[in-house]
Amino acid sequence: MRKPIIAGNWKMHKTIEEAIELVKGIKEEANKTDVEVVACCPFTVLSEVKRTITGSRVKLGAQNLHWEEEGAYTGEISATMLRNIGVEYVIIGHSERRQYFHETDDTVNKKVLKAIEKELKPIMCVGETLEEREGDKTFEVVKTQTLGGLKDVSAAAMKDIVIAYEPVWAIGTGKTASSEDANKVISYIREVIKEKYDDTVSEMVRIQYGGSVKAANASEIMAESDIDGALVGGASLDAGSFVEIFNF
Ligand code: 13P
Repeated sequence: MRKPIIAGNWKMHKTIEEAIELVKGIKEEANKTDVEVVACCPFTVLSEVKRTITGSRVKLGAQNLHWEEEGAYTGEISATMLRNIGVEYVIIGHSERRQYFHETDDTVNKKVLKAIEKELKPIMCVGETLEEREGDKTFEVVKTQTLGGLKDVSAAAMKDIVIAYEPVWAIGTGKTASSEDANKVISYIREVIKEKYDDTVSEMVRIQYGGSVKAANASEIMAESDIDGALVGGASLDAGSFVEIFNF
C-alpha cells in the first residue's frame, strides 16, 4: 500500500511572516491525516518553517539543490546545507527549472544522485510540453526523462524517491489533465520503472500528479489507481485550499 503524499510547491512566494502564517494554518489539520503533507518552501524561509512545524507531521521540502558537495558555485545551495536545516524532501527537475534555468536530464540525474547520497528524498519531476503532447510524444518524453533522471539510481534507493508527473501545459494554466489521462501516463511511468527495476520497485514507488490541482479536483485525481499524490503550486499558497486538498 503506497502512502499518499501531497506536497505544496510554493515556488517563488512567501516572506518569512507569510510562510509562518501559512504553515500555522495547515499544521493542525496535517496532524489529523495519514496523508504525508510536505511544504516545499523557498530557501529563505526553510529555517523558520522548520521551527514552526516542529512537533507536527508537516514535512519540510526544498525546491532545488546543487549536485556538488561545496565550492565556488555562487548562488547555489548544497544537499548538506539542506540537511543541516532539517529538509527531508527536495523537488528536482521541475519544468520551470528545465525551461528557464536550462536543467537537463543529466543535471537532474546528478542532483538526484547527490540527494540520495545525502539522504534527502527527491521529488523528481517529469512531463511533456503542449507541443510534445500534440505531437504524440508524451510517452516518449516521460520515458526519456524518467530513465535519464534515474540513471545509476539503485533499486534500494527507489524507496525514497517520489516521481511527479506534471504536464507542462497544465501548470498554472487552470487546465488539468483529465484524471484518466493523468493516470494513463502515470501507469506508463510505473511500467518504465518496472522494466528498469522490477515489479516490487514499480509497485512501491510513489508517483504524484501536478498541474492545476485544487480542492475541486483533488478527490477525483486521488481516486485514480496509480496516482499516489499531488504536487500543488498555486493552491498550496492558501492554507484553507491546501488543507482541503490534502483532506481530499
Ligand atoms: P499549479 O498547481 O499552480 O498549476 O503548479 C503546479 C506545479 O508546478 C507544482 O510543482
